[in-house]
Amino acid sequence: MSFASEVKTELLAVPASDCCRFAEGYGLLLFARVFSQHEISVVTENAGVAARAAELLKAHVRGAKNVFSVTADKINSHRQWEQFGHHAGRLILRINRANLENECCAGAFLRGAFLSSGTLTSPEKGYRLEFSAAHRYLAGDLAVLLREQDRVPHLSARKNTFTVYLHDSEQIEDLLTLMGAANSALELMNAEIYKDFRNVTNRRVNAETANISKTVNAAARQIRAIRALEASGELNGLPSELRETARLRVENPELTLAELARIAGISRSGLNRRLQKLVELETENKNVPEK
Ligand SMILES: [Zn+2]
Repeated sequence: MSFASEVKTELLAVPASDCCRFAEGYGLLLFARVFSQHEISVVTENAGVAARAAELLKAHVRGAKNVFSVTADKINSHRQWEQFGHHAGRLILRINRANLENECCAGAFLRGAFLSSGTLTSPEKGYRLEFSAAHRYLAGDLAVLLREQDRVPHLSARKNTFTVYLHDSEQIEDLLTLMGAANSALELMNAEIYKDFRNVTNRRVNAETANISKTVNAAARQIRAIRALEASGELNGLPSELRETARLRVENPELTLAELARIAGISRSGLNRRLQKLVELETENKNVPEK
């Protein structure tokens, strides 16, 4: 089941008082594929939404598996249209605020609108919650309503579909909560925290990898120098503490400076000075022209 479908299933189970049930039904039908005085038609991928529409429209669900449609006959369409205070002769379809009787009803109306026209990307893929409307003014009115609820919606239009969407995770979580999908909001929040955590972990692993390669490179450089000094016989002539340092380094190529210093029983900077000395001696040798 897609995340959007999961959210819709949660929304369908939200208990509502009479005023909110009415507002929810209004949102669901107004944002349906067709909402006119002659025809009201809901098309959805969600079987639960189709069943709810059938109940509202006193019609049968058609289709199966992925796409369901519910179309009211002429009489029922007209009845619903009038019930929600729409009047014949008005060409522009807008939200009739009289159907959102109380303050509690805005969330219920949005829930209904989301049930029939809403989509939501899964949290792993990104953040985008959108409503689509068949009319420009309807989309505009919805954006105004969302703004009144402290959301910052964006509008886009493609052909004859107008989209109102949110792409900020926090805003989406708040809206889901307002509509009544608190569990889905929580799921989204958890996904976000997990993603942040993974980013931090990745950064840390990268930093550690960089440190390890620095250690390995430095050790390799030192060991090369020591081998060269050994080959030229110079190592034997060096003071005992340098010889001891050389032996430790060659025997423990994987250790960091700090770890090697602990074994040698001297300070980190002391050990570093000795290793540097060995590298310098070898570099000097290289620079002496051969006879
Ligand atoms: Zn209400």
